[in-house]
Amino acid sequence: MRKLGLPTLTILLLSACEAPVPLTQVELAKNPGLSGTLRIESADPKLGNSKDLVLSATNTTDRFTFESVGTRELTLSLSYSGQANLPKSATSRAATLRATVSIGQDPDTRAVRTKLTRLELEPRLPVDCSRVIAVSAPGEGRLRIDLTAFNGLSSCLSEGRDFDKLSPLKIGERELTHSNRFSVADDVRMGNEYAAQFIAENRASILPDEHPTTVYFQRVMDRIAAASEGPAAFKPTVHVINADVLNAFALPGGQVFVFRGLVDSARSEAEVAGVLGHEWAHVTNRHGTANVTRAYRMMNALLAAEVAGYIAVVSAELRRDYYRAAVARVSTGLVQAGGVLYLLSKSREAETEADEMGSQYAWAVDYEPWGIADLFEVFLGRSGRTSRLEELLSDHPALEKRIDHVHDLSALIYPVKPAYVHTSREFEDARGALRSAPLPSSGQSIGLGNRFAAGVTAIAETKLAAYAEENQERFEKAALAVDVGKAIIDLIEAGQKKEDRGNAK
Ligand SMILES: [Zn+2]
Repeated sequence: MRKLGLPTLTILLLSACEAPVPLTQVELAKNPGLSGTLRIESADPKLGNSKDLVLSATNTTDRFTFESVGTRELTLSLSYSGQANLPKSATSRAATLRATVSIGQDPDTRAVRTKLTRLELEPRLPVDCSRVIAVSAPGEGRLRIDLTAFNGLSSCLSEGRDFDKLSPLKIGERELTHSNRFSVADDVRMGNEYAAQFIAENRASILPDEHPTTVYFQRVMDRIAAASEGPAAFKPTVHVINADVLNAFALPGGQVFVFRGLVDSARSEAEVAGVLGHEWAHVTNRHGTANVTRAYRMMNALLAAEVAGYIAVVSAELRRDYYRAAVARVSTGLVQAGGVLYLLSKSREAETEADEMGSQYAWAVDYEPWGIADLFEVFLGRSGRTSRLEELLSDHPALEKRIDHVHDLSALIYPVKPAYVHTSREFEDARGALRSAPLPSSGQSIGLGNRFAAGVTAIAETKLAAYAEENQERFEKAALAVDVGKAIIDLIEAGQKKEDRGNAK
């Protein structure tokens, strides 16, 4: 997992002229919401070794004055952290931009001029921030740092696709590429088919589409989807399941299921929006079918190994049966793995990606982007998980790391907004409407959660079995080709022996 460390803006001022320009004031123009500490370091005894000046999150200009000091060896460092309203546990995030500025005087006018000669970012991230910082010396001992073009690291130029995935400003511009042998239409069809089947089988436990809670979730989900990316054919449909399971799921193409237990346990609307964003990111990235594709690839490799084994050891009479047994063995083993992969898109990569892009979607519609991290804290506090869905969700990857990662992204990369939605009256009303519905027993809830899991696993099973069937002929041909090859070699060898014998005569 990408781990972002502590960042800091360091501006080193070098005096290029004989008489150093005395500085008495530093002005920092910035966006409100950007908070942090400006550190001035100098060997000048008037300043002491360093001086820390606290930036106010509400100001757009901060001014600091001090006794006149020479610019020689003067270093200014800005440790910033955006999103001043991050939860307490996340407020230690800060970024470090390290800039070197040379400053001198025009010999004719005695005007002070500056030049940004170097800018560094700590830790090293693939972004170029040189365009978002301007340093000038307007005279009268003033140094002006203009950071108004800077609003989180996403306002820097990105170098490479990895950073594009982390920036909400790239939504709709970046490519979501995962190897996938299914079409977009396959995603929609498979998702709709299973959703219809699951709903038909569990009608009593699913709130009707016109239930106020469902209507509310559909509205939030529509806004999130409209602000997101991915194939236009993916449209969200939200279903609320009346079961005390702490989870939510998306099927390929856009069918999203939210369990009542999750709505009950969430402490804010932003937490719920975070989950919807996360699930929607699984849809836009097509993680479900990408994971089945991966399972196919594993199956190919295993089948090839099996076929090679068969060629080596099995006589022609047994060929067909042996091959069939191999396909059965491989697909049975894979269905377990493939089903689970499919169900949860649980690879570390997919979960991290859904956290990243989902929090960007939440940000895009003005929810606190760390809502999903807040909800993970609820998960951590809940002991004795009983449903398979909850167990699987809780393990991969570790929730603590996922919380930290979302906090890093929120504090450092996402543009600061003046205000975020934490919760709303609509959310409280929707939850109230849900709470007035009778709650099924805990056993029924767990049963429903597990049935859902089993059903999704079954889709993967069907897909993989079809694949085995589809490719049986291909593998048989490959085996046959090897047999023919071997037969030719036998003939050549036999001919060679005959010749040898002839020569020996
Ligand atoms: Zn997920």
